[in-house]
Amino acid sequence: MANLGCSALSPQPSALLTQPIAILGGTFDPVHNGHLRVAWEAGEALDAEVRLMPANVPPHRSAPVASAAQRVALLRAALAGQSRLQLDERELRRDAPSYTVETLREMRVEFGEDRPLILLIGADAFAGLPSWREWRALFGLAHIAVLTRPGHGVDVPAELHAEIAPRRVESARVLSESAAGMIWRLPVTPLEISASAVRALLAQGREPRWLVPDALFADPELLEPYRRAAQPSALSPQP
Ligand code: ATP
Repeated sequence: MANLGCSALSPQPSALLTQPIAILGGTFDPVHNGHLRVAWEAGEALDAEVRLMPANVPPHRSAPVASAAQRVALLRAALAGQSRLQLDERELRRDAPSYTVETLREMRVEFGEDRPLILLIGADAFAGLPSWREWRALFGLAHIAVLTRPGHGVDVPAELHAEIAPRRVESARVLSESAAGMIWRLPVTPLEISASAVRALLAQGREPRWLVPDALFADPELLEPYRRAAQPSALSPQP
């Protein structure tokens, strides 16, 4: 009888060591199903572990409504019960503002030179990449997956176009075979959900059911910071 061993049934340590890590940064104030769905689809498409990385918002930018600890509690509740999406708190542990280039340098030290790191960036944010600190250094540290609506291209300024043209690849497999430097367009299911709209509903005393995971309602304290906040409505603009 053929011996299947365990290799066909369980991942080998070497496979785990080289599994890509994808990173979705944001404020997550609060996390919602738009974030989770896009992270999930990227994880499946890239066969990656996805890290949701809440940002340490610098003092000169408008502060999140919830504290870092409250945003982390919401993320923990949202991510419970599955392992593909993970919470990564490294940027919150830093006192300084979160620059992506610094975060990726830290991750390179932690995960080594060979592990594929993939930055997930929405198409709009990607077009603004040249304003990011040391933006050209990003390509030496990670791949970039540009999240787009199905059927839509990515419009970029000329400066960025020159840099990315030779880096474009058509298949996710290429990203898993090298550590950094490629750009791939990832069409994702568009969900018109924003944290601002979720905050506005809560501030009006309404429930953002089905816009955020059910787990966020399990403990009433989790969404309480937004119920208390008097927010200008993002849903119905004032005349
Ligand atoms: P806000 O409404 O407060 O500006 P947000 O909903 O855009 O917040 P962020 O925490 O700023 O949430 O977003 C983190 C990341 O998730 C960003 O890369 C953003 O482009 C992406 N993202 C946010 N909402 C969606 C969505 N509905 N679908 C896909 N990606 C999203």
